[in-house]
Amino acid sequence: MNWLKKFMTGRYGVDQLSWALLVISILISILSRILDSQVLAMLYIIPLGIVLYRMFSKDISKRYQENIKFLNKWNSIKRKINNRIQRIKGLKYYKYYKCSNCKQTLRVPRGKGKISITCPKCQTVMIKKS
Ligand SMILES: [Zn+2]
Repeated sequence: MNWLKKFMTGRYGVDQLSWALLVISILISILSRILDSQVLAMLYIIPLGIVLYRMFSKDISKRYQENIKFLNKWNSIKRKINNRIQRIKGLKYYKYYKCSNCKQTLRVPRGKGKISITCPKCQTVMIKKS
């Protein structure tokens, strides 16, 4: 194991982006089996190759930056999905409107009749049925 330790010294190793690429590679591989596709069976090599390249790369700061970019994208996607789920869960109790001026999403309680809604962002007032 000493030679491996020596070999990996100064190399980047594995991070979240590597894991994500690994998962993508596995998914493509499974999909190729299901669809019996030769093209997909070769495509799964690409993300796997990138994982290996990044793992053994000595340009640590560049790989680190790539991972930060990936994490930012990933977190923004996660936030959007969470917002959607929260919105679907709340459909029974809340109604959603878009501000006619700034397009900000506004949430109001259902079943209150005609109400005036003031946008907290731009102070535009709208009269809507809740
Ligand atoms: Zn507004």
